[in-house]
Amino acid sequence: MTAAAALRRIEGLPPGLLDVDASTLNDWLGAPTLLRLKGRERTPILISVLLHGNETSGWDGLRQVLRHHATGLPRDLLILIGNVEAAAAGVRTLPDQADFNRIWRPASGIGAEVLAGVADEPLLAVVDLHNNTGQNPPYAVLTDLSPGSLRLACLYDSGVGVFIEEPDTVLTRAFAGRAPSVALELGPVADAQAIPRAARYLNRLFALGELPTGRMDDLRLFRTLARVHPPAEATFGFSGIGDGSLDLVLDAGMEASNFHALPAGVEFGAARNGFNLRVLDNQHQDVTDRFLEVRDGRILATEPLIPAMYTTDEKVIRQDCLCYLMAPI
Ligand SMILES: [Zn+2]
Repeated sequence: MTAAAALRRIEGLPPGLLDVDASTLNDWLGAPTLLRLKGRERTPILISVLLHGNETSGWDGLRQVLRHHATGLPRDLLILIGNVEAAAAGVRTLPDQADFNRIWRPASGIGAEVLAGVADEPLLAVVDLHNNTGQNPPYAVLTDLSPGSLRLACLYDSGVGVFIEEPDTVLTRAFAGRAPSVALELGPVADAQAIPRAARYLNRLFALGELPTGRMDDLRLFRTLARVHPPAEATFGFSGIGDGSLDLVLDAGMEASNFHALPAGVEFGAARNGFNLRVLDNQHQDVTDRFLEVRDGRILATEPLIPAMYTTDEKVIRQDCLCYLMAPI
């Protein structure tokens, strides 16, 4: 990994910045940037966008809301504009960079600089904006189940929350016990509703005097149990794409089953050469036998499952995982 550009800090909104697309922010800012904007209420909200460079809906929704509040913000904001270099290249993360959403615990690089920069701030809330990878509904990601974080999730009109314990190096985890925090998956970048979804959420959030104490029963809440990986030493591909020599030929259609309950016996694909998908729980223990078995060369679920974040993007699969397995809370 090369040393990342140092964090830039700016007080107030640079004129013209709200007209700058994610792809040209790097020309303007030259580095990941922490903006501090003044509003009427002093307790700031930290909003982070573009930790993944190709997930642009958060920045686009935020700019809409900031334009709308051109005459004055309801409260102070801290805005982290993350991986502007990757955004310029239109990718999640550049090949020589650390993933900007995996640098927060233990904090390193930009993550450490941001945490030091906000160490003395009494934060009302922390909201990290992302786009979905793969075919998933919009949902809120919780890394703790504190009442404040749950309330942030309930403000999101997706009505779906997922509590994750792994990976535990994400931004929101760094604020556990300190400020309510949530990450929002806004839908895929191509989803025309992703930007309005972000704008609606931020408008609702900015309008709050404090976090509401209202009902939480409208939230469908899941927890992740495990992550599914092709073994590092196995070749893999997807049905219709792969050739006959692959160790694992996975079912691309499974992506449409994200967030749906599947019965035992559902097929994940074909396995050869003694390979199977590998399932690791939140403690990184191999729990494959609990969830998947290979019978007659077919990978089958041994119990009912709810997959999530299933993706056919081979880079994401190697960096992260094929999918998560969830259970309702
Ligand atoms: Zn992301």
